[in-house]
Amino acid sequence: MPKANETVLEIDLGALTHNFNYLKSKLQPNTKFLAVVKAFAYGSDSVAIAKHLETLNIDYLAVAYAKEGVLLRDAGVTTPILVLHPQPVNFKTIIERCLEPSIYSARILSEFISVAEEQSQKDYPVHIKFNTGLNRLGFWENDVDYIVSKLKETTSIKVKSLFSHLAASEDKNETEFSKHQIETFKSIAKVFKSKINYNPWLHLCNTSGIINYPEGHLDMVRSGVGLYGFGNSVAEDKQLKPIASLKSVISQIHTIEKGETVGYNRVHKAKDYETTATIPIGHADGITRIYGKGKGYVFINGKKAPIIGNVCMDMIMVNVTGIDCKEGDEVIIFDGLHKASNLAESSGTISYEIITAISQRVKRNIIST
Ligand SMILES: *Cc1c(COP(=O)(O)O)cnc(C)c1O
Repeated sequence: MPKANETVLEIDLGALTHNFNYLKSKLQPNTKFLAVVKAFAYGSDSVAIAKHLETLNIDYLAVAYAKEGVLLRDAGVTTPILVLHPQPVNFKTIIERCLEPSIYSARILSEFISVAEEQSQKDYPVHIKFNTGLNRLGFWENDVDYIVSKLKETTSIKVKSLFSHLAASEDKNETEFSKHQIETFKSIAKVFKSKINYNPWLHLCNTSGIINYPEGHLDMVRSGVGLYGFGNSVAEDKQLKPIASLKSVISQIHTIEKGETVGYNRVHKAKDYETTATIPIGHADGITRIYGKGKGYVFINGKKAPIIGNVCMDMIMVNVTGIDCKEGDEVIIFDGLHKASNLAESSGTISYEIITAISQRVKRNIIST
């Protein structure tokens, strides 16, 4: 792999293939696979990821918002795309670009039907979302009759799937709650299906659901974080390969004396002679201020160098006292070995947050190992 000479996020499609095959090996052969590529495919590159997944015969894609789906369509992605959190202002675009909305409330249902009717649609595919305990988006169990009555008044839409979302699938202390969600969803689906004369798919499991609840796999699963290499547990992390490596380079090295300070607000004070390195990545790139003041770190020539003082917008300073390094040397913020999940934990957050935060200013390099 070429050494970084500026800040880059390297995306390894070989690792993506590995993770996809691993997660797929957990499923029955006929269970479909939806890849969640929202938020630029968890901070990587949604177009490159979606196109690679298409070569692996992915069944479905999902994004959070309509504009994320439009970006994929503009790039020539043809796989069906579920929009998890659509807003009425985008319903016309959703139909024009063949995106499929999650219908999560009575308001969304009636507004989508009226736009679909205006656009003379017939059997436009929609996905009905039920709330079974996350209390975020979704109809309630006792809305089934209302939904079915609205469906019977129109031919403009047809239910492609029914789905719900687990609240704590990664948490072994919440097994009872998760199992209850699975049972509730199955019973809602059974009642729903008994009231219509066709068979929508059912789906419920995210990555940790795939791993922990085979009884919840149903017709399709929806994986995000696992595809990108994180399994929300030590055992699963070992099986998966992080697809993204965030690398940078040393811009300048300073040697400072005892008592001198580093960075804004003079937060870091040298206790003795210190060598510091300035790295061209800051909070505008996604390394937020929580990683400052010695909590976060980077790796230089295999050695751990803590981030000192406050994170600046475009830079961080790290302590390289005793580390053999020079200006121009490569810096690893995270990669397959130095995991983003560990860096996130050092500063009190989770892998999902650090990887999705890497801003669009950082150049993406797509590689395949
Ligand atoms: C983000 C999301 C997922 C993916 O979850 P992971 O834990 O990343 O696998 C699945 N379903 C819904 C509804 C989501 O919002």
